[in-house]
Amino acid sequence: MNDIDPYKPGKPIEEVKRERGLKDVIKLASNENPMQPSKRVIEAIVEAAKDINRYPDGGCFYLRKALSKHLSVKESNLIFGNGSDELILLALHAFVDPGDEVVVADPTFLIYHIASMVKGAKLRTVPLKNYKYNMDGMLKAITDRTKVVFIANPDNPTGSYVTKEEMGSFIDEVPPDVLVFIDEAYYEFARGGDYPETINLIKRKDRNIIIARTFSKVYSLAGLRVGYGIASEDIALVLNKVREPFNVNSLAQVAALAALNDKEYMEKSVALVNKEKEKFYELFTSLSLKYVPSRTNFVLVDTERDSVKISEYLLSRGIIVREMSAWRLKGFVRVTIGTPEENQKFFKVFTEAVKDTAKN
Ligand code: PMP
Repeated sequence: MNDIDPYKPGKPIEEVKRERGLKDVIKLASNENPMQPSKRVIEAIVEAAKDINRYPDGGCFYLRKALSKHLSVKESNLIFGNGSDELILLALHAFVDPGDEVVVADPTFLIYHIASMVKGAKLRTVPLKNYKYNMDGMLKAITDRTKVVFIANPDNPTGSYVTKEEMGSFIDEVPPDVLVFIDEAYYEFARGGDYPETINLIKRKDRNIIIARTFSKVYSLAGLRVGYGIASEDIALVLNKVREPFNVNSLAQVAALAALNDKEYMEKSVALVNKEKEKFYELFTSLSLKYVPSRTNFVLVDTERDSVKISEYLLSRGIIVREMSAWRLKGFVRVTIGTPEENQKFFKVFTEAVKDTAKN
């Protein structure tokens, strides 16, 4: 375990306020939705709060019913988790023994890496090509010992995505005994155009596929921790066996159900992100900085400067972003799209930071 670095989340707002003696702090570091959750969500939580003396429904009965209808899959194709993070752990628990191999991209969402190491798996990492998953490289990295391949689509921290065509060829070629974990945490922001609709893949009898999604992002429930997997009945059954019986708390269940029923809120969130994202692109272009076009609610930008200095400058003025050294992306920061007011503040301070910091 000594060679495993724990996951370092974005700094909490309260911590920065305390440490820096600042009154106003904005967090653009953890790809959260900056809007408060839907009113319907708050009402459902208040109503359900009086029943928290009871254990939650371990099978997520009502949420399962609603989601199965929403996605047009069977209830038995669904598995719920304490955030979609937990599904990553469950998949590794169920399918990987020490010494087995797991294929991941590099860089990508760090939890795949950390959780695989905790399981004693051997990692085979495939470098991104031009900030995008190299799907041919991923295929080539698979050996007889490979048990799981993780694909973040779209990817975090780049925001890039694997197209329908690329995903189709990968799935056609992948060996049938390998579990393909398709992480679609940002699905609602990404869908459309040549982004792959993967749900029908779970019907393939000759492939092992799990698709993971979450209520943390577009639905604004990050603090409650609820995500879900969509898989064949056989895979869902196996994951169910290894989960903790009450892994999704009762407030999370009612909140997710209410969030799912508020389509208008979800569409508003996506529209806000798409509109504001253009302003980030414009700013970076005006500063002659390169960024990765994103299908998510964050953007990865190459500051071409010391990104530790840039993020420190931002932090000292109450703006938390993600500095990318831990991903070995030197000079890069990842910034989450906030409210229009938060974004305006970021644009002003980031411009100052770039102008005040020497170019590499
Ligand atoms: N996958 C990816 C690619 C992510 O970026 C995140 C959130 N940072 C998650 C999974 C986990 O989300 P949650 O556990 O909140 O559902």
